[in-house]
Amino acid sequence: MNHENSARLHEKALDCIVGGVNSPSRSFKAVGGGAPVAMERAQGAYFWDVDGNRYIDYLAAYGPIITGHAHPHITKAIVRAAENGTLYGTPTPWEVQFAEMIREAIPSMEKIRFNNSGTEAVMTCIRVARAYTNRIKIIKFAGCYHGHSDLVLVAAGSGPSTLGIPDSAGIPQSIANEVITVPFNDIDAYADAIKKWGSEVAGVLVEPIVGNFGIVEPKPGFLEEVNRLTHEAGALVIYDEVITGFRFCYGGAQNLLGVTPDLTALGKIIGGCLPIGAYGGRKDIMEQVAPLGPAYQAGTMAGNPASIQAGIACLEVLKQPGVYEELDRLGAILEDGIRSAAAKHGVPIQLNRVKGALAVYFTDKEVVNYDDAQTADSETFGRFFRLMLEEGICLAPSKYEAWFITTAHTEADVRETLAAVDRSFAALAS
Ligand code: PLP
Repeated sequence: MNHENSARLHEKALDCIVGGVNSPSRSFKAVGGGAPVAMERAQGAYFWDVDGNRYIDYLAAYGPIITGHAHPHITKAIVRAAENGTLYGTPTPWEVQFAEMIREAIPSMEKIRFNNSGTEAVMTCIRVARAYTNRIKIIKFAGCYHGHSDLVLVAAGSGPSTLGIPDSAGIPQSIANEVITVPFNDIDAYADAIKKWGSEVAGVLVEPIVGNFGIVEPKPGFLEEVNRLTHEAGALVIYDEVITGFRFCYGGAQNLLGVTPDLTALGKIIGGCLPIGAYGGRKDIMEQVAPLGPAYQAGTMAGNPASIQAGIACLEVLKQPGVYEELDRLGAILEDGIRSAAAKHGVPIQLNRVKGALAVYFTDKEVVNYDDAQTADSETFGRFFRLMLEEGICLAPSKYEAWFITTAHTEADVRETLAAVDRSFAALAS
């Protein structure tokens, strides 16, 4: 494949955009460096880059794309919104309709507020939990990404219950000190953390199905026990469903798993491919938020008619019968084919899948937490990523990111992908 135009564009981008990218995960740093491929058109399951190459897209913009690119129903809603003005700075009928739709799908979100990104949604959940409990500390799980606000950009030392170390320059140690990180799926470590700091903890941040070191499901009973221990300590359970919201079913992972948080953060899919975030939860907790309560949160762009109407249209598509069953069916075909190709070529992999989202780890260790995910071989992933790119298959340029199937993918796309996987694994094994 020719990538000359991408390379030329990257040279220019480096001169005017920091690092040449508008989000660090878009760079090819984690897959051996070089110019990232620049796309200029997307339709359905496909991307076309600036050199005219076509790709099947499994990146899905890191999660928001679930109906494929430029879905006609969503496009129509966006055009309609554009024709009628995309920003009012006043209440609108659509935000009420959308809040009702979300509450109907995720009943724990009794009261909702829209904002502009997953980062904002999570950041505000933390503020509200702090306001409600009058406590400061937060517990999060190692390797889980919750946006780039100061509080959650804290990784973890290895080992259970370590106090946070900032994961970025510019975050005061005093803020990181308020974050306790424990391994996902390790209920003993969680119980230890609660025992040690429970009376100071405002809330625990949970991705109910992890989407940020591949795809990792909670062990049976893990989330239920997290709920019990957290509530016993007088703290709140906050579900970060920015990736999982409407990804696996018409609702959150909480619907699928039958567990209920106090607060939920949403983003990505609910914007119908436009910028959005939303948070919500128990009425008495949400009433901490201004103008009703003392916790302040605001936004010039919040609830803008374009994002809201795109989001409504997206949920209308997802509500059609059979949508999630088909994503699951294609996911199963993809999973089976990848497993067969790995066995055929003797490539050690672990594969985790929930419905239409899956993760391939180049390791022989079962992946149930971040430490396990870190054992995946980065160099092998980097080679696989580039082999697949040359085959016209677009994956995320990181060994930690999931593959996402959309309603636009067909079985033929999946079969084409599997043929590429087979050839790529053959090349890795040779
Ligand atoms: N929470 C989770 C689970 C995410 O995966 C992300 C982004 O990838 C965020 C929060 C932050 O969302 P945004 O990038 O919209 O700010």
